[in-house]
Amino acid sequence: MIIINDFNLRKQADELGIKVWQTPGFLFIVMGFVSVVIMTATYFISAYYDNPQVLVISECLVVVVVLIVGTSISRFVGQMANLNRMKSEFVAVASHQLRTPLSAIRWETELLLTKLKKGMNKKQVEKMKNISQLSLKMTRLVNDLLDVARIDQDKLILRKQDFDLAKLTQDMLDESVVAYESRHITVSSNIEKDLPEVCGDVEKIKLVLDNLIGNAFKYTTSGGRIHVGLARRNKDMIFEVDDNGVGIPEEQVGRVFEKFFRSDNASKYQTEGTGLGLYISKNVVEQLGGRIWFQSIENVGSKFSFSLPIAKK
Ligand code: ADP
Repeated sequence: MIIINDFNLRKQADELGIKVWQTPGFLFIVMGFVSVVIMTATYFISAYYDNPQVLVISECLVVVVVLIVGTSISRFVGQMANLNRMKSEFVAVASHQLRTPLSAIRWETELLLTKLKKGMNKKQVEKMKNISQLSLKMTRLVNDLLDVARIDQDKLILRKQDFDLAKLTQDMLDESVVAYESRHITVSSNIEKDLPEVCGDVEKIKLVLDNLIGNAFKYTTSGGRIHVGLARRNKDMIFEVDDNGVGIPEEQVGRVFEKFFRSDNASKYQTEGTGLGLYISKNVVEQLGGRIWFQSIENVGSKFSFSLPIAKK
């Protein structure tokens, strides 16, 4: 399958934004084809002329062709790697610079909505709340982009500490009750009692929980149900969230943790989304020594799970 994909030149060209004849796959085929032609010609020439000099010249020709095409491929790969590095650096710098003005907007609107609220009428308060929510959304997006850039540069910073995952999960569920109730979604949970602490980065795991529980909510139709579970299994803690939402089409399940992936049915059902949450969650969980996995059936539901190592003390 991978080999077939490697030689799907049209797809390769579209993905890389170049012409078909510039793709590494095409250059590779040319290299193979030219080598076969020259070798065959060498065979006939040497059979016909019976002259070692002709043979040496023909072989030199093969080597020159292989070197030319090989150099083009390696130059192309080098350019792509360089562009990729520059893109990650640009995204990291841009996201970092955007965070400061965004935080200022959030602080200012917060101030207006609390201490200076008296001077505003109902409509103005309403508008201010919208600005506050939108700036929060934008801050999340910018933070996600920064995390993706750091992951791509192998520079994701994780601050490991022992913490209570059961409490964190329960707090997140309590915080979202109003939102779930407004969409008539039933939320149930089964969090085992007296669970030990886990070892991880509490802020990043908060993001993972927010993403997995948020997705269950986002991709479940009104009136659906969501179940959250947390239990110990040997040296790991297992978190899972189950929903009876739109699910993921069978032919797309292999791409779920890819950067920017959104399934066809999900993007039709829910236009909001970036396809970055699961990519970040997978990298965070795996870099903390855990695993992340899922099961999903289209129009039946999905179950996303992750494990984290239990704290050693
Ligand atoms: P986003 O939700 O912002 O699109 P994610 O990275 O969190 O990005 O998820 C990637 C994709 O995986 C989603 O767009 C959706 O297609 C699919 N997905 C994730 N969670 C669920 C779920 N609980 N039910 C159905 N599809 C899901």
